[in-house]
Amino acid sequence: MIDIKSMTLEEMTDELRRIGEPAFRGKQIFTWLHRGAVSFDGMSNLSRDLRQKLSREYRITAPVVERRQVSRLDGTVKYLWRLQDGNCIETVLMRYHHGNTVCISSQVGCRMGCAFCASTIAGKVRDLTPSEMLDQVLFTRLDAGEDISNIVLMGIGEPLDNMDNVLRFLELVNHPDGLNIGMRHISLSTCGVIPGIDALAELRLQLTLSVSLHAPDSETRSRIMPVNRAYDVDKLFEACHRYFEKTGRRISFEYAMIDGVNDQDWQADLIARRIHGMPGHVNLIPLNDVVESPFKPSRRISAFQKRLESHGITATVRRSLGGDIDASCGQLRRRAMEEKGGSV
Ligand code: SAH
Repeated sequence: MIDIKSMTLEEMTDELRRIGEPAFRGKQIFTWLHRGAVSFDGMSNLSRDLRQKLSREYRITAPVVERRQVSRLDGTVKYLWRLQDGNCIETVLMRYHHGNTVCISSQVGCRMGCAFCASTIAGKVRDLTPSEMLDQVLFTRLDAGEDISNIVLMGIGEPLDNMDNVLRFLELVNHPDGLNIGMRHISLSTCGVIPGIDALAELRLQLTLSVSLHAPDSETRSRIMPVNRAYDVDKLFEACHRYFEKTGRRISFEYAMIDGVNDQDWQADLIARRIHGMPGHVNLIPLNDVVESPFKPSRRISAFQKRLESHGITATVRRSLGGDIDASCGQLRRRAMEEKGGSV
């Protein structure tokens, strides 16, 4: 059966026309779906005949809450959703004074292999569909009973390894008849898939591109991020500069501080040299301790920040939310997998 929520409004309208319905039905259904309707039965402005016809041809995706953890420290909510095929993914709701941000997953698992990351330990199972990415926003919004103002594609998975579905998701979530979340309120994070960065640059979207840098030198980066062996950090920065020239958008560099690995002053100096010529911003992240990983959090975060700032690079230290609830990516899914013997 066809996954109707992954369709754009235009496609939905065409489908409806094809089965002999007026075009405005497409918009009615689109609106229901983007409010989180889970069946055609409840679509009260459609005839019973049409509702039955639709249920025979189309399916509506809807995840169920497998686990929900609420941080007592800051109200961060972490969801483990069970998808219709039994796979599980994570979503995090973060409450900031400027509004609610939802951090969504783009794949079930990940094949990028970063040595410090829990999401990639068991590899990639499959890509998420546009509807499954949208559902994370729709059902988090409904479950929390609060509006969502920002989206970050920083959960499980590599968004640029699932480019077509991610672009379609962006179109859906941005649509005026749907959630209508502006591109400027969306961030997409990549471990550095260069062809994807170039393709994104061509589209000149207003979203914020985050690049997970984690080391400015080839040797260290290849050691902790296998993607660097395919797309070297030299070439990655060339792509970043091209991206800035095309889009005029400032890139944000993610940098998880790892004790004795990437926290030395010479590395801060090298980051500054590489960013030179564009308005980059470095986000220093206290490393989340992942049980399976040998790496430890750095104690040099503020020294590193000062060193970057001495070169005129703006650097902020990310406030850690949900410290009491496995809120960093992949950890809740890992935990659930272990408890159930790998069936998640
Ligand atoms: N695949 C994409 C998006 C998902 S990861 C990417 O790599 O950017 C979101 C961010 O969390 C990335 O910057 C990732 O490197 C970082 N991350 C993963 N494990 C971490 C850990 N243990 N501590 C701190 N940050 C981590």
